Amino acid sequence: MKEHEHGTNQRYNLGCCRCTPCRHAHAVYSAARRRLIAYGRARIDFLIGHRDIARAALDGSQPVPAGSQTPMSRAHIRFLLGQMSLGAADLDVLATQLTAALDGPLLLYLSSAILTEAAPQVSERLGRGWEDLVQRVCRP
Ligand SMILES: [Zn+2]
Repeated sequence: MKEHEHGTNQRYNLGCCRCTPCRHAHAVYSAARRRLIAYGRARIDFLIGHRDIARAALDGSQPVPAGSQTPMSRAHIRFLLGQMSLGAADLDVLATQLTAALDGPLLLYLSSAILTEAAPQVSERLGRGWEDLVQRVCRP
């Protein structure tokens, strides 16, 4: 197995190193991952809270991806992914894909059965799903 350099979260996790640079890298990684999870949960709460408006915007004449695109989401997610030092991953594409998993298009993929559940329950389920997704995708 490849030996990771000091000052990386990989060395902290896989090499179990606790030197100052490795602890710092781990702290930066953990903070970015927490922020990404929290950002997604807040975004989901907002979307579900406004789901009728959001779906109406998506169902209209606009092509799906443009419906409720928020460039801020992508830029913010891209920034946080960069902070996590995930290795050779294509962070631009990953940020775009995670944005799509979070933003307006998500609502189109939800069954009407799910959407008839009360908003807090839907938000909680989707929020847990987002956390799970981030933890798996952003594994060190
Ligand atoms: Zn170290």
